[in-house]
Amino acid sequence: MEKNLGLDIAALILLGVLFISCILRKMTNDLSGRIFLVLILVVAASTVFDVMSVLLERNPAADAHMLYIAHLGYFVTRFLTAPAYLVFFISLIDIWHKLKKNIFFQIIMIAPSLVMLAVFIMNHATGLVFSVENGYTRGPWFSLLYINVMIYVVFDVICVVQYRSLFSFGDIAAMAAVMLFALGGMLTQLLVPNVLIEMFCSSVSLLILSIFMQRPEDYVDSVTRLMKHSAYARDMKRTYYNDKHVVVIMLNIGNYDSVKAMIGFDAAMDLLKKVAGKIHDTNKRLHGHAALYYLDNGRFRLVFAGKGIERVEDVAESLNRQLKKPMNFNGFDITLAPYEVIARCPEDMVDFKMLMSFGADFHKKNYYTGSVMRASDIYSKNQLDIQTNMDAIIERALENDSFQVYYQPIYSITQGRFISAEALIRLFDSEHGYISPEPMITAAEKSGAIHKIGAIVFEKVCQFIASDDFKKLGLDYIEVNLSVAQIMNSDLPDVILSTMKEYGVSPDKINLEITETAAAYAQDVMTENLDKLTKAGLSFSLDDYGTGYSNMKRVIQLPLKIIKLDKSFVDENNNPKMWIFLENTVKMLKAMKMEIVVEGVETQEMLDAFSDLKCDFIQGYFFSKPIPKNDFVAFIADANKA
Ligand code: C2E
Ligand code: MG
Ligand code: MG
Repeated sequence: MEKNLGLDIAALILLGVLFISCILRKMTNDLSGRIFLVLILVVAASTVFDVMSVLLERNPAADAHMLYIAHLGYFVTRFLTAPAYLVFFISLIDIWHKLKKNIFFQIIMIAPSLVMLAVFIMNHATGLVFSVENGYTRGPWFSLLYINVMIYVVFDVICVVQYRSLFSFGDIAAMAAVMLFALGGMLTQLLVPNVLIEMFCSSVSLLILSIFMQRPEDYVDSVTRLMKHSAYARDMKRTYYNDKHVVVIMLNIGNYDSVKAMIGFDAAMDLLKKVAGKIHDTNKRLHGHAALYYLDNGRFRLVFAGKGIERVEDVAESLNRQLKKPMNFNGFDITLAPYEVIARCPEDMVDFKMLMSFGADFHKKNYYTGSVMRASDIYSKNQLDIQTNMDAIIERALENDSFQVYYQPIYSITQGRFISAEALIRLFDSEHGYISPEPMITAAEKSGAIHKIGAIVFEKVCQFIASDDFKKLGLDYIEVNLSVAQIMNSDLPDVILSTMKEYGVSPDKINLEITETAAAYAQDVMTENLDKLTKAGLSFSLDDYGTGYSNMKRVIQLPLKIIKLDKSFVDENNNPKMWIFLENTVKMLKAMKMEIVVEGVETQEMLDAFSDLKCDFIQGYFFSKPIPKNDFVAFIADANKA
């Protein structure tokens, strides 16, 4: 049977198309893309040698040297695809830094190639692999070629299995298909040498990889031409998984949203391009060798690893200087607020989750100083640990029943005595100490633990209200905070009412606080919950009034008894305009027959000022901080007696 070149020609066409598409899709942006391109070239070279050797074989007058070179070229390039694939997989999992340190692995990886090199060099004299003396014939060591290829395939499989958590299911399926395809082609050709299917199978394997794994459109942002959020997530996950040390410049344009609203969408895209260009040029000019990413909403990242890592500070400072200069877009002179933080990973950002959550909004939590910041200055190690381990801390507290409830007294100006208190959660973790309620509640809302926590707080409050200690104090009610997630949960009324029933607590002894943010949601579940609980006789307060953008219409529609003026609002009472606003707010709320609690009163002057305004109640450090139950009982007994 004569060898048919049809499949080889098809393979060459396929490889040509693949090569061009890789170039056009800018796949050469990262290392694995460049190695992929080399793979295509090696397979193409093999195919060309294969075609050459077949054509020469067909020609009886062909030069024996040429025939030998064509076959040798084929076998050498054919063999080279095996280590090239391994290099490609290693670049995907990014463990070069580990390999550089491990001589043993280096030797194991290179050994089969060295053996083959020696065998190929000797082949001319020995004919161990093949000879062309009397037409092409396989030599006694022919199978060594395949054994060495198989060794590399085993290495590939070990790499992929070992680092499987870095790949999606689709990636792994694609890689398995590639290996099966390549091996299938190789075996078929080994058994039926006249069917030239091997190169075709190899090129289809590359096609599979290019379709399923090497998709730059998933990783390159079309506006900035920098790598996308998904690439950043992929690369940083690998970094942490492989214990690689990197330094990241996180650049968040703090005022991106407002600038975009001002200059419009198209100009905002130009702005992003311009910033990306500056980042690119600065990185190049200062030899930073950083990988560059654009995430979204004006957030850029520069990741320094190995080469250029010592240039981090220079790059950050230079960028900061450039980006602070006013720019003109659409006729607007705009000044950006570039928040830059240098974070060492994993020293400052202990894990991937921390890196992502810190990077999402550090610019919202830190006042703009105009200079480059360091992550280690912004977050103390303990805070960082707490933030990272919050879920575990909460779980431990639930297991050990270590949540406590403190009470902060609330004073009635008209009655001249303490009439109620706010229940506030407290947690002292055995490892991390005091855990601030706000981040804890936020984390608990995300994990769903808030419902258990809410039930625990509520039960403790009911227990207290049912106790003789409480009854003796003659207090009117206790205020209990509800978080947004709790109010949006249709089980809430049942949980509350059944607990009250269990402890025999009458509904007028409970006031539930909902926040302004919750009130802004016009959700049916929330409205139903409020209705049910109001019908059962409970009353509601609106907490943190003045912090959010309250939808006044919603506020008016809600069954609220009390409005709590937030501390941040109250703190500005010596600003004359703010005072006018406060005066009128109080007047308006009073006209609506609402009661007013002033929160965060710390001084006699503030107390006097709000008393003059005819606010009803005062809560704040001026009277007392939140204190444990027993201290609270003693405090009220003593204060109300006087
Ligand atoms: P909030 O409901 O507005 O509680 C008032 C916060 O202001 C408390 O902080 C209190 O300690 C603090 N505060 C009161 N008076 C003063 C003052 O004069 N000066 C200053 N600087 N601060 C004052 P805390 O206990 O850290 O609680 C923070 C927030 O955590 C609460 O704000 C509330 O939103 C949430 N929270 C606390 N306990 C619970 C709870 O059991 N459930 C839910 N869902 N949220 C809770
Ligand atoms: Mg509150
Ligand atoms: Mg409040």
